[in-house]
Amino acid sequence: MKILTIIGARPQFIKAAALSREIANYPDITEIIVHTGQHFDANMSDIFFEQMSIPKPNYNLNINGLGHGAMTGQMLEKIEEVLLIEKPNWVVIYGDTNSTIAGALAAKKLHIKVAHIEAGLRSFNMEMPEEINRILTDRISDILFCPTETAINNLKIEGYNNIKCKIVNSGDIMQDTAMFYAQKEQKPNIEIPQNFILATIHRAENTDNIERLTSILEALNEIAKTTKIILPLHPRTAKIIKNSELKIQNLSIIEPVGYLEMVYLLNRCKMVMTDSGGLQKEAFFFKKPCITLRNETEWVELIENNFNIIVGANKNKIVEAYSNHKFNPNFDVDLYGNGKAAKNIILNIK
Ligand code: UDP
Repeated sequence: MKILTIIGARPQFIKAAALSREIANYPDITEIIVHTGQHFDANMSDIFFEQMSIPKPNYNLNINGLGHGAMTGQMLEKIEEVLLIEKPNWVVIYGDTNSTIAGALAAKKLHIKVAHIEAGLRSFNMEMPEEINRILTDRISDILFCPTETAINNLKIEGYNNIKCKIVNSGDIMQDTAMFYAQKEQKPNIEIPQNFILATIHRAENTDNIERLTSILEALNEIAKTTKIILPLHPRTAKIIKNSELKIQNLSIIEPVGYLEMVYLLNRCKMVMTDSGGLQKEAFFFKKPCITLRNETEWVELIENNFNIIVGANKNKIVEAYSNHKFNPNFDVDLYGNGKAAKNIILNIK
């Protein structure tokens, strides 16, 4: 059997690492990897392949630096060409990027079966490009691998009981990766303070809105007067800050790091502040409270269990949550399937 996986962005490499490792246990499955090129810098792409021994992509489409339409369109065209050559039994796509929707659409039109990993997630914010990608991808997928019961319920509410597809609660494949690498950390090449906050900012709703970005950075500057903050900065955010009047005081800004360095930081930080989807869950996997710098989250079970609080981009709310919010300290709850997602996924498509 031939499975063709499509990946292009950092969080997809991290998820794909778990699936490739699982596929290696089945001699009757061949995996073909297509890298769309959405993320291409060494520290946003190559490092993950090296650190996590992800097989070298069979195809590198090198599509990047374009607007949504051109990027998705070029991916669609190029992926179709690859599918016509490879004729896989399944196309596997992850998450909610332009690579995800392009892969699903190309495959579906050629009558190749589509498996969507991280299906059923919703922010209910149709201004997010990710939300549009998720909804459209789910609708044309043959198997929807949901990471949580919440995701399954989202699909039921949207009427998926009436749609010809299979819905599986596979658990969250990011937990597979987190558990596998939890003890394989690598120290980043910076001084690591005793007590620090790990922060990331990269979501378009924050980076492309100067008021929101200003407010978040002001809050971080304020908190950093008393607690060190390490901020591995996404290239998109770095570019916007560089071209603005925004002031960074007190923060330890570093280049994006590899996954093993993130594991080191997650193992040692006291708290996470982020607008990243993946990092909200990793905070939980590494038993750290999380302040989410967005107006909503797809990972609502973290909020319901008080491991995470949503504060948007409001400076006062961010500082207030950091100073006073009492998080749930009991992280021994199974919300995401405990690291068996890749196996569940393969057994369901085999
Ligand atoms: N990550 C990383 N290095 C960094 C920042 C993030 O390896 O410098 C990892 C992080 O641990 C998580 C993933 O990248 O596994 C999240 O990716 P991102 O925040 O880009 O995307 P999202 O999860 O929001 O889609």
